This record gives sequence, C-alpha cells and structure tokens, in this order.
Amino acid sequence: MTWRATVLTLFPEMFPGALGLSLAGKALNDGKWALDTVDIRNFATDKHRSVDDTPAGGGAGMVMRADIAASAIDAARANAEPGTPALYLSPRGTPLTQARAHRLAQGPGVLLLCGRFEGIDQRVLEAREIEEFSIGDYVLSGGELAAQVLIDACVRLLPGVAGNHGSLAEESFASGLLEYPHYTKPRDWEGRPIPEVLLSGDHQKIAEWRRQQAEALTKSRRPDLWEKRGKSKS
Ligand code: SAM
Repeated sequence: MTWRATVLTLFPEMFPGALGLSLAGKALNDGKWALDTVDIRNFATDKHRSVDDTPAGGGAGMVMRADIAASAIDAARANAEPGTPALYLSPRGTPLTQARAHRLAQGPGVLLLCGRFEGIDQRVLEAREIEEFSIGDYVLSGGELAAQVLIDACVRLLPGVAGNHGSLAEESFASGLLEYPHYTKPRDWEGRPIPEVLLSGDHQKIAEWRRQQAEALTKSRRPDLWEKRGKSKS
C-alpha cells in the first residue's frame, strides 16, 4: 500500500510545490508516496462558489463554512484508505513533533485540511473528529505551506525514500537531542580547522565527542527538550 497525502485546499495549484523537488519529489515520481488535492471550492453550492462567511458574533475576517468543508472532507474520506487520520493545520493545534511524524509515516497516509481566512467553523472539526496540528508558534496566511511541512517530515521517513536510513537515526530529535555539528572539506577554512578528533579515525572517540556536542547544544538551545529527556530516562 502506498502512503498517500490528500490535501483539501482552496489553492490546489500550490501543490506539489516544494514537495515536487529533491528527495520528496523524486520519491513522488518513483511512486513511493502519492499526493492528491481536493479543491474545497468544488463543494460550494452557490453561483459565486463562495466557501466562507462572516464570523458569528462579529469581528474581523471570514470563516470557512462547516457545511462546505464537511462535504469536501466526506468526499476525500470516501476515497481514503480506512484509518487515514484527518488533520487540520492550525496555529492553535498540537505542535508537530518528530515522534508524531514517525507515527504518521507508519500509517496509511494523511488527510490534511488547509485553512484560510480566520479559520474554519469549529463544528466541522468536532463533527468529523479532526485533530488540529500546528507547525510552530507563528501565524501563516494559509495551511498549505504547513501541510507541505508536515508531508515532507513524514515522506522522508518512508522506507526507501532517504538513501541512508542510518542518518535518520542520528539526526535532531531522534534520541531527544539536537544533532551534533557537521564538518567537511576543506580541512582548514579561513583559519578554522575541523576539530582534530574528527580526523583521528578513532570511531569511539568520535562518537563520544558527537554525543557531548549534542548534549551541550540541547542544554543551551532547548532546555525544554533537555529536561524532557532527563525525565524520560529517570
Ligand atoms: N485566526 C487564526 C488564529 O489566530 O489561530 C489564524 C488563521 S491563519 C491567518 C489561516 C490559516 O493558516 C489557518 O486556518 C491554518 O490552516 C493556517 N496556519 C496558520 N498558521 C499556522 C501554523 N502555525 N501551523 C499550522 N497552520 C497554520
């Protein structure tokens, strides 16, 4: 079964976008994952094809209508593999983590609802049991870029997509730590030499140095991750 991302959007022309290039793009061309878009506007019922309306209770902006979003979700779900989770990209959602990307990559795929305007009528999220996911504490103008981020994070974890699966085990967050720094040629650049230990050929020493660097970086840059790691070990 092929891992499939189905994206519900008002801007299907934004896809595959960044996902059509490099690792994800090659894997898409090779059939290692599949991408479908559903144009939410096709489910509008009036002659203007409108999908939004003013917020109940007043206030700025517009809100995507529940009935139209629900029709789009129901149609997408009917074509999706059973058990495919439906997620709404939203700044107030659960933060996306590497652990969650791993779990999503192990499933049949994802159905992603991209918001625009002020967001979407709450009732459709509740009625269709849609989980909200955020890609960070900032506000984008639409869910499409966030959907591409989530898909990219999952696709690179699919079997056969990243050439060297060993590198996935070592990268940031894999063990609750940020990744150690990397170096390559030239050996000396602008008076900055590559750390001697990396040229020593002593694999044990190199592994130890990298572990220390990863721990120091995590402690200083992400004390929240460091604390969580401490708790999970105790
Ligand atoms: N009024 C909303 C709020 O304050 O939470 C922001 C709406 S934003 C202008 C429009 C859409 O962009 C959202 O419905 C969501 O789909 C998407 N979006 C914006 N920021 C996001 C983020 N950090 N993570 C995921 N999706 C985001």
